[in-house]
Amino acid sequence: MQIFKFGGASVKDAAGVRNVAKILETVGYANTLIVISAMGKTTNALEVVVNSYFKEKDKLTESITEVRNFHYNIIKELFTDENHPVYWKVDGLFAELTSFLERNKSPKHSFVYDQIIGYGELISTTIISQYLNDNGIKNNWIDVRNLVKTDSNYRDAAINWEETQSNISSHVNKSLLNITQGFLGSDANFFTTTLGREGSDYTAAIFAYCLDAESVTIWKDVPGVLNADPRYFQHTQLLHKIPYKEAIELAFYGASVIHPKTLQPLQQKEIPLYVRSFVNPTAAGSAVCNTPELTPKVPCFILKKDQILLSFSSRDFSFIMEEGISYIFNSLHKYQMKVSVIQNSAISFSVCVDNKFDTLPQLLEKLEERFKVSVTQKVTLYTIRHATPEAIQEIETGKEVLLKQVAQDTVQIVVK
Ligand code: ADP
Ligand code: ASP
Ligand code: MG
Repeated sequence: MQIFKFGGASVKDAAGVRNVAKILETVGYANTLIVISAMGKTTNALEVVVNSYFKEKDKLTESITEVRNFHYNIIKELFTDENHPVYWKVDGLFAELTSFLERNKSPKHSFVYDQIIGYGELISTTIISQYLNDNGIKNNWIDVRNLVKTDSNYRDAAINWEETQSNISSHVNKSLLNITQGFLGSDANFFTTTLGREGSDYTAAIFAYCLDAESVTIWKDVPGVLNADPRYFQHTQLLHKIPYKEAIELAFYGASVIHPKTLQPLQQKEIPLYVRSFVNPTAAGSAVCNTPELTPKVPCFILKKDQILLSFSSRDFSFIMEEGISYIFNSLHKYQMKVSVIQNSAISFSVCVDNKFDTLPQLLEKLEERFKVSVTQKVTLYTIRHATPEAIQEIETGKEVLLKQVAQDTVQIVVK
């Protein structure tokens, strides 16, 4: 079996959906399971719905209408018959969403988030499955929540591998073309859960693992994995072959082209991951596979914007030792700060963090009781794998370097 994953960018409009059909016809779709994300920026739009529900009730209807209109415009372009069953199917999903919000009594933000956010994928797969069926690509729509089982850690649910494996083994008919949702699962009570933003790549890996697939292909708006994010770097190079370990490192440091959890299940079973262009589907793209060396072996750049650099020193000129560091880390953990770099010297201890949950004021209040803290906001962290002196210079030129850490294969530079 092969697993395909189409992300939001590949199905952001009617032309994107038509292109999916074209790709399937070009590259073949025998024994294939397709994982699909929400269309375009639908997940963000559904996050607005959730926020309106909790904070701005007067904007709730408008925010739902926006999601509905976006999909209706796509459907109208794809299905000329006004009585096509796709209309009542999609209407049914919107009716479910609204009725959930009307009936819901839970004040738990993450729970409500997952019950709402999942409609992006349910709607996109409904439309695409229907479109492909109408255009000669017969397929079987699967509700992924009946297969992928998770715990109840809403918004970042962990897979129950045993149950998921058993469901997938017994319910996926390998001889059909199957279409299912990325990013979603369900807990023991069959409430919808999500696997973390951008989690559809991970879904593809879960199916690949459980089905012992031959390969996973994720179709992107880029030619493959490049040595830097083309939104921020001009002269990028395509990485043809990437060892699993290297891809795990790149994803870990924040190369957003592959979701970090995707690679481990694939590496375990040595299932290759192809990253290919949906604009140019016959090009080879990149292969993450069992290969000894990164090819071509060039410096790879990863950029993380909007980081915060915190430097601690003690109030009495003593060193910050194990106990102090442990206190700092406990606090960072408590306020859900994601640490991206750590540096210790005799007089100060510095960390670069991602303030994802907007908890900086609370964190500082706690830490300033014990330490002098210097805070630099809006810094950028560059990570360079396989750095060369030229690559480092390219990053440093014209910027103020606040922290630099050189390890064997990885250089990290925090700049302002
Ligand atoms: P999807 O539609 O599957 O969700 P994403 O938007 O998550 O796709 O991923 C594709 C984007 O990842 C590209 O448009 C590109 O801007 C970005 N990106 C970041 N780092 C890299 C990289 N090293 N190589 C290629 N693309 C990258
Ligand atoms: N639709 C989800 C998101 O935007 C999952 C994904 O696209 O991978 O985060
Ligand atoms: Mg994505």
